[in-house]
Amino acid sequence: MIIIILGAPGVGKGTQAKLLSKHYNIPHLSTGEILRDFVSNPKSEMANIIKETIDKGELISDELISSIVINRLQQDDCKKGFILDGFPRTLSQARILDEILKQISNTTQRVLVINIDIPIDKIIQRVSGRFSCKDCGTVYNNNFLKPLQNNLCDECGSNIFVTRQDDEESIIRNRVLVYTEHTAPVIAYYQHMDNFYNIDGNGKVEEVNSRILKCISL
Ligand code: AMP
Repeated sequence: MIIIILGAPGVGKGTQAKLLSKHYNIPHLSTGEILRDFVSNPKSEMANIIKETIDKGELISDELISSIVINRLQQDDCKKGFILDGFPRTLSQARILDEILKQISNTTQRVLVINIDIPIDKIIQRVSGRFSCKDCGTVYNNNFLKPLQNNLCDECGSNIFVTRQDDEESIIRNRVLVYTEHTAPVIAYYQHMDNFYNIDGNGKVEEVNSRILKCISL
């Protein structure tokens, strides 16, 4: 199974992708995480440019991100399927992905597109207060999703948490603009597919997850 997760920043794409990855035992490919890993210790001019772009809330080029995705999809663990989180983010990336899928997926593999839907005016509120476990990446929020025990990750027990520089309010406002201009049109691109599902992203993580699982099982 190949699952493409769409949605504005902060709707919970990464959190839901991680749950689906565990549930179906297929890898979770987050282009944002791949890029953040790459720039975490910037040693090249390229890493510096990518870091600046992310920190401004802009998109990195379609060519570069597509080549990163193509490389990752060639690894063995993607043969039985995968979950894409954060790609495609532009119409051009969606067309490139169509070509990639034609080449790599076999006819028995189901391709599903899940759009997690949250009103744009709720995004700032959801993203401010977001933090994550430095060791396993589990995402929390100071306003509505704290770890069960103060300062300990529910998943791995680590006590080291990090915030994303691009979650700062002025940057998130720009990310929302970039999403509206470049990524929202990708929804229309997939909307007419049989396996396109628009999921209400409001509510608890488990509630959204069960809505997604219900659609997938149809
Ligand atoms: P995310 O973790 O998905 O919110 O991505 C964080 C940042 O990484 C984005 O704001 C972009 O700067 C960059 N990025 C991630 N995926 C893509 C993509 N498919 N195309 C262009 N830039 C991307």
